[in-house]
Amino acid sequence: LVAHILDVERCLTLGELASSIAHEIRNPLTVVKGCLELLDEKRKRSEYHDVIVNEITRAEEIIGDYVSVASPTIEPRGAVLVDENVRSVVSLFEAYARRRGLSLTYQCEHGLYVEAVGAKLKLALASVIKNAIEATESGGVVTITTYLKENKQVVYEIKDNGVGMTAQQLDKIGTTYFTTKESGTGFGTMISIKLIQEMGGQVTYESHYAEGTKVHIVFPLLKKGEVSQQREEE
Ligand code: ADP
Ligand code: MG
Repeated sequence: LVAHILDVERCLTLGELASSIAHEIRNPLTVVKGCLELLDEKRKRSEYHDVIVNEITRAEEIIGDYVSVASPTIEPRGAVLVDENVRSVVSLFEAYARRRGLSLTYQCEHGLYVEAVGAKLKLALASVIKNAIEATESGGVVTITTYLKENKQVVYEIKDNGVGMTAQQLDKIGTTYFTTKESGTGFGTMISIKLIQEMGGQVTYESHYAEGTKVHIVFPLLKKGEVSQQREEE
């Protein structure tokens, strides 16, 4: 059993993230520019076409990951209803999971609240769920469960029976550029961890190579009295 708790230090600040992303985007753009210069020579058109499309797609993906995090959000922190939160994220992935032949299910304890920025929490959850789906082969299962722990913490558990990670891979999770995917960006996990920690939550990864992965996102429970107070302030 390999368990791993992430610390804050391994995450970049948003400023550092911005400059590393600028750097990442410059690479595909340089390749595209080079291709376009060669296209003038009217040779190997179709070959360059593929390279150009691939590199632009990569730049788009990187920008997409970043913009969703760094764009100023007007939404303040507030009481987030956990089951509603999970349901809305899961619905985004139902078609994706079906296409890949996976079962995607969720089970949420009702009436639990956490204090967070709803949009950021959704984004972080989406990234973790997407990775779980991508790690799992056809016929596999991804389950999302939320429950109350020790009457004071809300746990979001995202579990898959996919490829899992080796101890070395697990050690790198959440660090910049770590990806094992051919066209991965290696930003998703880092960004989710950063968002969750910023909002006062914690993330734990537990994984067994060739067996699967379990991610726990833990937030303090927002108690009943605190919920109504929050709602009145809104
Ligand atoms: P990307 O998805 O673009 O590769 P991420 O930061 O989202 O970047 O994930 C980084 C890496 O962490 C993945 O490439 C994969 O190797 C590993 N990973 C994350 N979640 C899982 C999971 N549920 N199962 C197995 N590996 C995972
Ligand atoms: Mg990812």
